[in-house]
Parts: sequence; structure tokens; C-alpha cells
Amino acid sequence: MTMTDERLPDALKAEGDWSSIFSYHPMEITLERAKGIYLYAEDGKRYIDASGGPMAVNLGHGDPRMKAAFMDQMDKFAYCHPVLANRKRAELCAKIAEIAPGDLNTTYLVAGGSEAVETAMKAARQYHVLNGSPDKYKVISNFESYHGMTLATLGVSGSPGTQRYFEPMIPKWPHIHQYSDYKRPRGVSREEWALQSASELEVAIIYAGPRTVAAYLATPHGAGCDYAVVPPKEYWQAIREICDRYDVLLIADEVITGFGRTGKWFAMEHFGVQADIMTTAKGISSMYAPLGAVTVSDRVNEPFETRAFSHGFTSGGHALACVAGLTAIQIIEEDGLLENCERVGRHLFSHRERLLAHPTVKDVRGWGLFLCCELVRDKETMEFFSPDQNAEHLYQSIALKNGLVLYGTLYGGRRSPTMLRGLPTWICPPLCITEEQVDDLIDRLDDTLTEWEGLLGLG
Ligand code: PLP
Repeated sequence: MTMTDERLPDALKAEGDWSSIFSYHPMEITLERAKGIYLYAEDGKRYIDASGGPMAVNLGHGDPRMKAAFMDQMDKFAYCHPVLANRKRAELCAKIAEIAPGDLNTTYLVAGGSEAVETAMKAARQYHVLNGSPDKYKVISNFESYHGMTLATLGVSGSPGTQRYFEPMIPKWPHIHQYSDYKRPRGVSREEWALQSASELEVAIIYAGPRTVAAYLATPHGAGCDYAVVPPKEYWQAIREICDRYDVLLIADEVITGFGRTGKWFAMEHFGVQADIMTTAKGISSMYAPLGAVTVSDRVNEPFETRAFSHGFTSGGHALACVAGLTAIQIIEEDGLLENCERVGRHLFSHRERLLAHPTVKDVRGWGLFLCCELVRDKETMEFFSPDQNAEHLYQSIALKNGLVLYGTLYGGRRSPTMLRGLPTWICPPLCITEEQVDDLIDRLDDTLTEWEGLLGLG
């Protein structure tokens, strides 16, 4: 099936079969430059980077401080053999220890989110082996989650679509259901439901064999259909207790939520819960350079002091990436981007009712500058768009016409039966966005929805 849509002008038609490809929407737009929240195409058209690329750009684009920091480093060296000391790497790791919750004090650097998650899984395993529990190796994670594209991270991700070709090659461990308001029974409070939902982890550990479970891995907010659902703090507190009870390490995947996206440095701070291992990427450098990090607690790192963590990538701790990470943190501090995220985020969510008024907008949720809009064909029945409607492609094409670059969704051209809910669309612009720019963004989103609903006969 091609994604070509006869309802669109030629310039907006995509080529090829993108139906099974995660999140891509190939358009004939060639980026020329980017500044602040804006992307400028070679033909002169300006777009708002409404999703910060793939939820990754936390700083504004084209920051001159970043350029100056890169130039300064380039005058010294671009790359440093990992056995040599590199001052920027040391400064970055020290800075992460300063801003990370509790005793998450030691950081192992990598080049992206998948590497970070896979490295965290290895850290959990090695920790247990060195601590006298060599049978602990399983990593429990959530259905509908996404943790990366390497074989091991595909295994812990709960997305059959991306796993299907690689099935025989990936580790298969238990998955549990994440906290979901949608599934919450009538009359049950969020807090009660949080405890019931968390207890699923305990059941999974018992079935898997507590002796064999090394870690539980999850994102602070929901994924898949429940993308950006923020559980009550009781949920995470109960998860923490269960992990402690069974000597299971808690790995918080903060690849999306870290470095200010939710109004705090790290999202787990909202719940007053500290993970044993935290993975970050994306916003850590705002993608000025590929960078990821695995930050572990003193307890986890303790056995590595005598038997070094078996870790190391040629590009992990690349000098230019470290400069990007360090400078990104400095800019977040200098420009008060956490405070801006909190304040402008509140303004973003003040548009909630306006979006919910659309016949296709089933839910609007999230935190900080991360808003997820859930789109369905029928809000009452939750009926979804039929594949021949090419609804997602059409939606994104109209958004582009209206000057918005959105991130694709999890469904591509068709929806899997494991994701029987709406089409999540993410608004997570650079954290420097102003209230006026948010209003402009929402106006364009509103227009896009109206036009889209009209073309689908839902207006
Ligand atoms: N973890 C989460 C929560 C993610 O959302 C992603 C990517 O979107 C990853 C890990 C993988 O990161 P990367 O694409 O940098 O490998």
C-alpha cells in the first residue's frame, strides 16, 4: 500500500510503503535552517517544531551558545580516546549527579536512548551477579512501551509491530499492563486503581520467579494508547515498594521525560520516587549531538568499584557530545527553562477544552510541555479510522500545510489490535516557547483538526 492520497495536492504526496514504519511521514520538505521553535524549509516556508522532533529538542534550535561551545572544543580536540581523561566528560557526569534525584551519582555515557536502555539492563544484570544473585537476569517491562530499536530493547518494548521480523532473535520476558485511566473501573478512585495496577508487577515477579528477576523497566508516564497518562504518585510508590521487596532494580526510562520536559529535571521527581537506574538521551543534548546516559545509584555502582562495569562504546562520551550535554544543562539553568516549562505548560493545557470540543479529540492529557491529544473517529464508540481513509497521513499533511511539523504516531497506516484506542498526537515543542507562540501553535492545530474532520466527513 502506498501512502499516496488523492485528496492532497501533489506536493504533499508521499512515496513508498510507509504503512509499517514507525513514525515516519516522508514529505518533500528540505530543511534549510532552524531557529528557536521554528524550522525553515529551502522554499522559504516556516514551520513550528510542534513535537521537538521526535520529542527530543528541549532547547531552542540554533542557540549561539551551543555553537560557541562547539567551536571552543573544536579548537582543542573533537574526540578523545576513552582511556584518556576528558575534562568535559567529567564535568558533564558531575553535573548530572548534581541535578539527578537522590544518590543517582554515577553516569555511564552512550550515544542514544536504545544504547542507554540496553546498557541499563546490563548494569542491572552485572550488579546482581556481583552481589551473589547470578540467577537474576529477567527484565520485566510494560505492554505498549517503547524502549528502542536494538534487539534487547525491542524485547523489552511492548510493541509487536516493531518486533515482528526479529521475533526469534529477541529476549522474551514478562510484560505487565501500565497504569491506565481508560481501564479504571467506575467508582474506583485513581489512588485505589494505582495500587491495584501496581500489584500486577508483584504477580509477574512471582510467576517469573523472584530469584530470576533482575529489574523492572518503565517510563514515568504512559506509553502506547496511554501515552502521557500521568499515574498518581501512589502508583510509583507502590512499584518502588514491590521492587524493594523482591530485590528487583527499578529502571526509569527518562529518555523522553528527562531534562526538563515535564517542568522538573526528571519526571520521577514528581512522584517522590527514586529509581535505581535512570536512562536518558534526546533532551540531554537537545540533539545538538547524539548522546545518552545511564545514571546509577551508589548502591548499584558499589560492586562496580572493584569489578568494573563491563561497558564502553567508541562514541560514548564523545567530546563534542559531552560539550553539547553540558552546554544544554547550562542553557536550561541560565534561561530558566524548567520554570518556563511549568508556566507555559500551564498555558498550553489551558487550551484543553478547546481541543476537546472537536468531534475527534477523545482525550487531552500530559504534563509540563508535553501534551498528548488522542484522536478517534467516534468518541462514543471509540471507533477508529478505517485503513483506506489514510487518516494519519492526511492529518499530518494538513498540519504541514498549516505550518506545523508533528511527530508521527505509533500506528503508521494501520492500527494493531494491541492498540485499540485513539491516535496519539504529541505537542512537545522546545521548552523556550512563549505563551504567544503556544497560542499560534494551538490555532494551527485547531485549524488542522477542523480541516481534517471536514475531509473525513466528520465536521
Ligand atoms: N526509550 C524511550 C522511552 C524512547 O521514547 C526512545 C525513543 O523514542 C528510546 C528509549 C530509544 O531512543 P533512541 O531512539 O535514541 O535509540
